[in-house]
Amino acid sequence: MARRTKIVATIGPASESPTVMQRMVEAGMDVARLGLAHDTLDLQIERYFRLRAAAEAAGRPLGILVDLPGPKVRAGSFPDGGLDLAEGQHLRLTPGTGHSTAEVVEVDYEGLLDDVQVGDSLMFGDGSVVVAVRDRDGDGLAVEVDHGGHLEGRPGVHVPSDRLRVPTPTSADLRMLDAFVDVGVDMVAVSFVRSAHDVRRVGTEPHPRGPLVIAKVETRAAVENLEGIVAASGAIMVARGDLGAEFPIEELPHLQKRIIRKCIALGRPVITATQMLESMIHAATPTRAEASDVANAVFDGSSAVMLSGETAIGHDPVGTVRTMARIAGRADQEFDYSGWAPQLSQLNVVTPGAGDAQVTDAMTMAAWRAATEARASAILCLSRTGFTVRVIARFRPQTKILGFSTDERTVRQLTLSWGATPIALPERGGETHTQIEAAIEIARARGEIRSGDTVAVLAGTHGGSTATDQLRLVHVP
Ligand code: PEP
Repeated sequence: MARRTKIVATIGPASESPTVMQRMVEAGMDVARLGLAHDTLDLQIERYFRLRAAAEAAGRPLGILVDLPGPKVRAGSFPDGGLDLAEGQHLRLTPGTGHSTAEVVEVDYEGLLDDVQVGDSLMFGDGSVVVAVRDRDGDGLAVEVDHGGHLEGRPGVHVPSDRLRVPTPTSADLRMLDAFVDVGVDMVAVSFVRSAHDVRRVGTEPHPRGPLVIAKVETRAAVENLEGIVAASGAIMVARGDLGAEFPIEELPHLQKRIIRKCIALGRPVITATQMLESMIHAATPTRAEASDVANAVFDGSSAVMLSGETAIGHDPVGTVRTMARIAGRADQEFDYSGWAPQLSQLNVVTPGAGDAQVTDAMTMAAWRAATEARASAILCLSRTGFTVRVIARFRPQTKILGFSTDERTVRQLTLSWGATPIALPERGGETHTQIEAAIEIARARGEIRSGDTVAVLAGTHGGSTATDQLRLVHVP
């Protein structure tokens, strides 16, 4: 069985060469993430074009996701090789954008002295180092290291999100996004979302004309407003780095499950992110706990699992993608396909929207049932926006899903959808049945289906409606 859970990998200095990018696509990277909190916009745009070329050379569709930093607070860069901070060590934090040393850490947040209070705990680098604020003087904060560790690069500094007064997306985010919309980026992730309104402020054209908007759930407010945020977004990221700093750490596994279940109920792809194979930044193999974490994220219902520092700055980005592909692919084999769909009824599965969405809901449920009972070898979805493919994916059919679209951006956006093989369908006009014949022919030529197979086909008739209103069981000629 081909892997069903998708892999998102972050591009950085360790993975920016054309050869490494191509090998990462070949190793199983489905979506490449450019974290705009790092490096210059020009360099990130250059990486974007290199990724397009790498996907072309590898002959596989690749989605490209830009991750907007939002009001993310970062420390000034640490010296090469990083610094070890020991428990009990005293430091000063000052607002600024200069370099950090073992004595003074610069923090790029103007409101630092107003918004952080004596007694607060601040986390660096997704929890690698925790400091307690002991005192405040004219231009800085005196802190003591409570939990020591190693810091390198420009680690994030977690300021509790209810104190941060900067809106998201920030105006700098929107300027960077404009540059990527111009070049045709496929997906955009928005950091520190607190409400559905934050998602709508992105203001791009609805996908597929614009990028698929992915809300990162990483604040307390986002967890409280989860339903509205999921409904307003194209997809969701469980951003466990900041989420694990906002909530007590023991809450994190349960929040992960709760967020994933809400995404499944509403038919939105969901990425589980951060520290999945963290030890592979330096090591050749992951820890046992990391391997289990990836597999459990698959069992929870993640559409995709994500690599961050592992591929951006790690010693072996290609090997790390390959390892993740092996763990996720093996977990896909053990997935409880038959138990999944009956559980869905407890999730109140219903797609928000007008009548069209409800028609698609009913049709995808019927397709899942028909494909399972007729032992179909594939479900072929002909979808303009990708909506039908995303909706059927939530049933987690064991039958393979072939997601066809005449829209190239939809094809690339489907790289994030659980279980879907995205395939471009040439735009030939004509009736739906001609499109269906073309899709069957393409699938047969690619070896996805064979003559004599039964396949389920889901399609919408042309016209004003966006609903998927045709389901056929076809005997492949
Ligand atoms: C996270 O916080 O888990 C995350 C994915 O966001 P970032 O990498 O931007 O910190």
